[in-house]
Amino acid sequence: MTRAPPRSALAACSLDELQTRVAYELDCLAYPAAGWVPPVRDRHGRLVHAAVVVGGGQGGLATAFALRREGVHDVLQIDREPAGLEGPWITFARMHMLRTPKYLTGPDYGIASLTFRAWFEAQWGCEAWASLDRIMTTQWMDYLVWFRNVTGAEVQNCTEMTAVRGTPDGFVEIDLVGPTGRHSCVTRRLVLANGMDGGGIWYAPPAFTRTLPRTVWAHSSDAIDFGRLRGARVAVLGAGAAAFDAAAAALTTAPRSTCTTGATRCSGWNSVHGSSRLGSSLHSVIWTTRANGR
Ligand SMILES: Cc1cc2nc3c(=O)[nH]c(=O)nc-3n(C[C@H](O)[C@H](O)[C@H](O)COP(=O)(O)OP(=O)(O)OC[C@H]3O[C@@H](n4cnc5c(N)ncnc54)[C@H](O)[C@@H]3O)c2cc1C
Repeated sequence: MTRAPPRSALAACSLDELQTRVAYELDCLAYPAAGWVPPVRDRHGRLVHAAVVVGGGQGGLATAFALRREGVHDVLQIDREPAGLEGPWITFARMHMLRTPKYLTGPDYGIASLTFRAWFEAQWGCEAWASLDRIMTTQWMDYLVWFRNVTGAEVQNCTEMTAVRGTPDGFVEIDLVGPTGRHSCVTRRLVLANGMDGGGIWYAPPAFTRTLPRTVWAHSSDAIDFGRLRGARVAVLGAGAAAFDAAAAALTTAPRSTCTTGATRCSGWNSVHGSSRLGSSLHSVIWTTRANGR
């Protein structure tokens, strides 16, 4: 009887090796290999995309990848952010680690070589994976950039969808603003993978925002200069993840600040372990509501 090789022997030893493995596996699984959606033109003679995916975050990347694997090749994918800044991970998600356990699989579509774990082990080894507690947010972003590259995603960055409407001939017309200016395109199917932004506007209570100068309040989704808060008393409105992250960022970046809550005053914070391990609640003049949330 042959013994199974140790797990470490099966992990790729470099990203190059992993990339080769991914390419091989995708080749083995390439059915249907050829695109099967017939090209169509609208009533003005414009070529109609098979699908447009709005959003190049993990949801958009996974969706566009799944479409390509199903032989739907004419997919236009856009994101309003520059490449590498899609999603919240290295902008306004201020925690150092994901809250999601490391074992939860992501946009890999069931292909082991495309998992975060395979990506991580190829660089830092199996022992490092075994001792990893939570995934760093910066690493998650790096992984998504790698995923985008190895799956051949072609995201048009810095391109925003500004309007959408149906057409008399049954398609969907989309207005876009991008590096080449404004234009529109038509598609058979529109996939909104625009994350929390898709919920509408980021909400801050007008009772406060009408009376307070813009310099003294921010929404947690804004780019906030926490260094300016040194010595300040900061109120954070909200008691969800972004509230705790904003409070942590204020207390660690501006250590002499104090974050006040309805009932609790928080004067110290371990932003590595973050809010997921704090049992108490914190009211969050940084609004931390979801889009349209009240
Ligand atoms: C502070 C914070 C912490 C979080 N922590 C976790 C966590 O630990 N684990 C977890 O699973 N989830 C976490 N989340 C949730 C996280 O947002 C989602 O899991 C993940 O980002 C969802 O991916 P997505 O692709 O749906 O959306 P996103 O990653 O938000 O991507 C949407 C993309 O759409 C783009 N977009 C939006 N509107 C338009 C438009 N009109 N035109 C063009 N592009 C547009 C945006 O630029 C963005 O890049 C956290 C969220 C926040 C805010």
